[in-house]
Amino acid sequence: MQIEENISLQRHNTFGMDVRARYWAEYGSADELKELLSQYADVQKCFIGQGSNLLFTKDYDGIVLHSSMARAKAVRETSDEVYIEAQSGLVMDDLIAQLCDMNLYGMENLSHIPGEVGASAVQNVGAYGVEAKDVISQVDVLETATGEIHTLNNQDCKFGYRDSVFKGEQAGKYVVLNVTFRLSKKAVYKLDYGQLRDVLPAAPSASAIRNAVIAIRQSKLPEVGQTGSAGSFFKNPIVDKATYEHLRTKYASMPSYTQADGYKIPAAWLIEQAGGKSLSMGGAAVYEKQPLVIINRHNATPEDVMRLAKMIQDRVEEQFGINLQREVIYI
Ligand SMILES: Cc1cc2nc3c(=O)[nH]c(=O)nc-3n(C[C@H](O)[C@H](O)[C@H](O)COP(=O)(O)OP(=O)(O)OC[C@H]3O[C@@H](n4cnc5c(N)ncnc54)[C@H](O)[C@@H]3O)c2cc1C
Repeated sequence: MQIEENISLQRHNTFGMDVRARYWAEYGSADELKELLSQYADVQKCFIGQGSNLLFTKDYDGIVLHSSMARAKAVRETSDEVYIEAQSGLVMDDLIAQLCDMNLYGMENLSHIPGEVGASAVQNVGAYGVEAKDVISQVDVLETATGEIHTLNNQDCKFGYRDSVFKGEQAGKYVVLNVTFRLSKKAVYKLDYGQLRDVLPAAPSASAIRNAVIAIRQSKLPEVGQTGSAGSFFKNPIVDKATYEHLRTKYASMPSYTQADGYKIPAAWLIEQAGGKSLSMGGAAVYEKQPLVIINRHNATPEDVMRLAKMIQDRVEEQFGINLQREVIYI
């Protein structure tokens, strides 16, 4: 266990916000986590992975807790599948690289998404037609109020679009300890999103799909470590039939994807149409290759980012009557 006081969080969030935390602690086991929870019972707490989906809006007057548990092992195998239990602090993309090398299918489309295994379940990360929920078999959690450890199955996790039982009203109730992923030994592909099918040969290996995903992502998204960001700042809105039809009559070229609960409209398209592509505020700017992403162009402050995000939301609301919801979590 390692505890530091009054530390800069700049290298602990991919936006690169130079804010400070009163305490920073790394725990290497569930027992260490329990010890920290009781030792700092009266202090506000934030559980963090790589800090790639959040914005620290100011100095954090509490304890930021990070898991240093980062191992993975196969826990079950059938003729078709392998179940891999991964610890929360393992970098998700390191795990995916290993799984692809082992020719196990299911997570290759999620390659190169920043972040750790714990948050992948919290956020139900997704890309190229695959979401973490498609491969998560179960999640081991520690209940912060009691210190008890529970195992939640896929249904218990209540996964939704970038959503789960670990967010919203129940945020902070559970800390994710392990996530068990179900991988296929047989080649099962999802190649109908983005330009994946166009750039791949017939019957590609998991590693070939991974490499194609990485190349496409690198051409469109800012690279962590080079340009500060937290990925997509807003969720793609899902609108009802009446709203969709109303907008379609006004904007014939509006892209949309039919969902079980309505029509998903790409937020990037809405932002671009609303003139948001070239917006900036102080050191924060809309990323030129992807208007859904806000970047830290030059020493941006949290206020710069928040004001720019609000400006984008206002423009989209004014033009389309759609209230863009943030994907990035404000802390
Ligand atoms: C360039 C870029 C591209 C991105 N592309 C994508 C993409 O394609 N698809 C996508 O879905 N996301 C994407 N993201 C967002 C981000 O990578 C994911 O949301 C990722 O899962 C966040 O992981 P993290 O470890 O950094 O979590 P953090 O940002 O540190 O935390 C995210 C949330 O999870 C909570 N949390 C973290 N660890 C735990 C734990 N062990 N137990 C309980 N709660 C915990 C935190 O409190 C916070 O609420 C992108 C981000 C960037 C910067």
